[in-house]
Formats: sequence, C-alpha cells, structure tokens
Amino acid sequence: MAEGVNANIVIIGCGISGISAAHRLVKAGFHHVRILEATARSGGRIKTGRLGDNIVEIGANWIHGPSEENPVFCLARQYGLLDPEALTPENQAMDVGGHPPWFPNFFSSSGRKLSAEDIYPAQEMFVELLNEGSEFQGQQGEPWASVGEFIRSEVQQRAAEKWKDVDASTRSLRLCAISNMLKVECCVTGTHSMDEVGLGAFGLYKTLPGLDCTFPRGYEGLIKNIMSALPRGLVTYNQPVRCVHWSNTEKRENPVVVECEDGARIDADHVIVTVPLGYLKKHLSTMFHPPLPLHKLHSVQRLGFGTNNKIFVEFDVPWWDADCEVIYLLWEAEDGMVDQVPDIHRSWIKKLFGFTVLKPTERFGHVLCGWIAGHESEYMETLSELEVTHAVTQLIRRFTGNPAITPRRILRSQWFHDLWTCGSYSHLRRGCSQQDQDNLMEPLPPKGSQSHSLQVLFAGEATHPCYYSTVHGAVLTGWREAERLISHYSSFSPSEPIKSKL
Ligand SMILES: Cc1cc2nc3c(=O)[nH]c(=O)nc-3n(C[C@H](O)[C@H](O)[C@H](O)COP(=O)(O)OP(=O)(O)OC[C@H]3O[C@@H](n4cnc5c(N)ncnc54)[C@H](O)[C@@H]3O)c2cc1C
Repeated sequence: MAEGVNANIVIIGCGISGISAAHRLVKAGFHHVRILEATARSGGRIKTGRLGDNIVEIGANWIHGPSEENPVFCLARQYGLLDPEALTPENQAMDVGGHPPWFPNFFSSSGRKLSAEDIYPAQEMFVELLNEGSEFQGQQGEPWASVGEFIRSEVQQRAAEKWKDVDASTRSLRLCAISNMLKVECCVTGTHSMDEVGLGAFGLYKTLPGLDCTFPRGYEGLIKNIMSALPRGLVTYNQPVRCVHWSNTEKRENPVVVECEDGARIDADHVIVTVPLGYLKKHLSTMFHPPLPLHKLHSVQRLGFGTNNKIFVEFDVPWWDADCEVIYLLWEAEDGMVDQVPDIHRSWIKKLFGFTVLKPTERFGHVLCGWIAGHESEYMETLSELEVTHAVTQLIRRFTGNPAITPRRILRSQWFHDLWTCGSYSHLRRGCSQQDQDNLMEPLPPKGSQSHSLQVLFAGEATHPCYYSTVHGAVLTGWREAERLISHYSSFSPSEPIKSKL
C-alpha cells in the first residue's frame, strides 16, 4: 500500500459517485486525490432548489428501496437526515418495488373527473405486463424487441378477451389509460418512448425492499455531509475536463494526462471518470485520446440515456381531492396506446402524464410536480417560463373544466440542456445487453494490454449493472472503482488491511 498512498488520482465529476470514490480513497490513506468539477457546485444530479418557501428537488427525489442494503439509506440514517417514519423496520421491510399504488385522481381531456374504478383494470393489466416484461431477461427469444411493442401487443389480445363485455366508451378510456401509463413509464425509465427500451434486458434493473422515502430538508444534505469529511481543497470547481490522454507507454509514473478546457494539464496515475453517460455520448470523439477501444465506444453509443423533467406548480388552493397523491390526465383521442406526440411544437404538453402531489400539505402547501419525458420534454426546455406556465395553465383548465384555475408560480428542470449532463439518466435501449454495461465499466487499458494498468476507470450511475439510474447505484460504482484501486495497491503489500467504511 505504501506505493499507493502516493499515487496521483484524479476524479472527473463531483456528483455522488465521484464524491463516494474520493471519500473511500481518502479513508484508505491515499494522499493525492483530487476532483475536477465542471460547475461551481457539488452534487450533479442531486440538486435541491426552492419554489417560494418550499424545498423542491430539481434532480433526485427519493431514496429508492430504503433498507439495510441501500448505501444511501444507511448514510442518510447515519447523518440524521430522515423522518422517523422512514427509519421504522416496517418501512424497510415493505417490498413493493418502490411504493404501493398512489391514491389517484383521473381527469379526461373533455374536462371530466373519471371514476377510478373504470380505470383500475387497465392499471392492473399494465403492472402485470411490466412484471412479465422483466422475466425475459437472461432468456433467448423474447417475443418483441422493445417493452412498448410487447405491452401494446399483449394489451390488444388480453383486452379483447377480458374486456369483451365492457361498454365501448369504458374500453376506449382504458386504452387511453394505457397510453397514459406508457408515458409514466417513459418518465420512470428516462426514455423518449417505451418502444426504445429493450425487452430482453428490461429485467436487469433491480429494486430493493423499503418504502421509497425523501429527505425532508433536501437531498443535497447528503452531499454536504459526505463532503464535510473530505479534506479542504480536494475539489477544483469550474474546471471542466476536455480530454483524457491515456496509454502513454513512455511514462511509467503519471501515465495519464488530464487536459482541461482552460488548457491546464494535470498528470495522474489513475483517472476515475464519473461524467454522465449523456455527456460521454455527446463528447465521445474528443473526450479520450487515443479514442476508446471500439467495443467500449459502441457500447457507449448503444446504451440509452434519455430525458425526464419536472415542472413544479404551486396553487393558492388545491383543485384535487384531499387524499389524492397523483393526478393522471387522459387524452380521449389516445386509445391507440401511444407514448409519443406527433407534432411536438404544437402538442408537446400532451406528453406530460400528470402530476404527483407534494406531501405532506403542512410542509409544502399546494404544490404539484408535473412529469414529462422524451423529446417533448427536451422541447419544453427551450420555451420561456411564461410559455410553459401558459401551457400548463391551459392544460389544467381544460382537464378540470374550470377556467379560473391559475398557478401562483412554476419551476421546471432542464436536464437535457444542462451542458454537463445532457439528459436525465440511463436505461438499456433495445439491442443492449449486460455486455454493454460490462464494456462501459471496464477500465483502460483493456485486459491483456502491456501498458500500465488501471489508467482510466469508469464510475457513475450508468455503470451499475442493476441499480443504474439511481443514487444508490451511483454511490456503489464510486466505491467499486475506489476499491479496485485499493486492491490494486494492496496486492503490493497484502499484509496491510485496507477495508474502509464511509
Ligand atoms: C429529474 C431526475 C430525477 C431523479 N430522481 C431520482 C430519484 O428519485 N432517486 C434516485 O435514486 N435517483 C434519481 N435520479 C438519478 C440520480 O440523480 C442519478 O443517478 C445520480 O445522482 C447520478 O450521480 P453520478 O455521480 O453518477 O452523476 P452526476 O450527479 O451527474 O455527476 C457527474 C458530475 O460530472 C460533472 N461533469 C460532467 N462533465 C464534466 C467534465 N467534462 N469535466 C468535469 N466535470 C464534469 C457534472 O457537472 C456532475 O457534477 C434522478 C435524476 C434526475 C435527472
């Protein structure tokens, strides 16, 4: 380990994966660890903002599966950041894939409040199909290439049989509800359309037990707590990296050179790249010199990285039921099970599936969070706040049939146009397999090469094999790459224990 403590390690990106890697390395005794961050802040896609007096999450909102196996839950508990309810054994034991179905209000585009009983059979069928869709993983010969095609084809068959005695208008409404649920799933998965999400690999994503919970004082509290344990000056802010020069066979020490946008060149023995997959895709041709090996490059291109945005809307008085947790908006012409809008410029708002209600009301007042994914969401980002407010107001007035409803203020996220993120999170696109994830996380130079090993390592949410797209996935990848270096150096002096815990 003695050689290790003097190794120069540069981490690119100060999101939760970069911070987690740094923390583990520093704890293990590495003295020369630094993080280069493009922006002026830590946290990346963990970003807490304000809407009036309210704390709102622009990025990550929930701890998905808060239980013992979830490192985010354990850290949040250790730092005292959670409500007592989230800490109860009952909460941790609930295994419902996130949360039990929220209590809904349904509205239709003709301004009617719909009976939930009419819609439930469609919801039930949809959930059943998502579960079945997860079972093709690891098997050969899935019936369709994408989750979207699978769901459409199965609904068609099952509806013909199960809903044959249902009147035509209710049946049509249920198919509109399927369109709505496909849009919900686009937000969950971070994709433009469920037709782009691979069916064969859909089951790779795994959930942990525990009822999803939030950070009452904001997710960024987690970042602040971990950062406070890192040495001062470890992060250089406003320092975007332009290129990682690796495979420098002539230099045994510091074989990697990190070139920054401002021209600075930083020597390193090892670099951990934690930039989002969206950024990596966009800058593939310039980010590495020499370029990534072909198999890795193709996997970066194949893996999916889409957009999911939030539009927070505050009202003086609620127009939804007191017990309502989610509001679904069903377009009556959408009985063709569609999750894409034909004319994005004119009709982008149709992609917004509805709103979740920020609870508890005593804490948040009357605030809704609208969800919109895909290219429609990317277009929404280009509009002014006034234009978005206008579109949301018209939408709500139409669906409630109440022309007087007027939001007090709104706030929306713009993850696609964020220069350093270029979207929201990753998914396994059609045609992808576990091999693509393995290729993405494989260090450079690849195995079998003669050059100095572990020059460039890869962490970040997209590199986790089953918790991709989550904060806990990102933390685990940061630790994984830190451990890779720790074990690399511990093999020089195996007697020294280097296990560390945050
Ligand atoms: C709208 C939204 C909602 C979400 N909701 C949830 C949720 O409820 N629960 C959950 O678990 N997860 C959620 N996620 C996902 C979660 O936020 C991410 O998986 C996680 O935060 C990713 O961490 P990371 O460290 O991998 O990447 P990031 O947080 O993106 O960190 C990467 C860092 O790299 C920096 N960077 C980029 N390019 C460069 C460069 N060239 N040079 C230097 N620095 C660079 C960026 O500025 C950034 O700080 C959500 C994400 C979004 C966008």
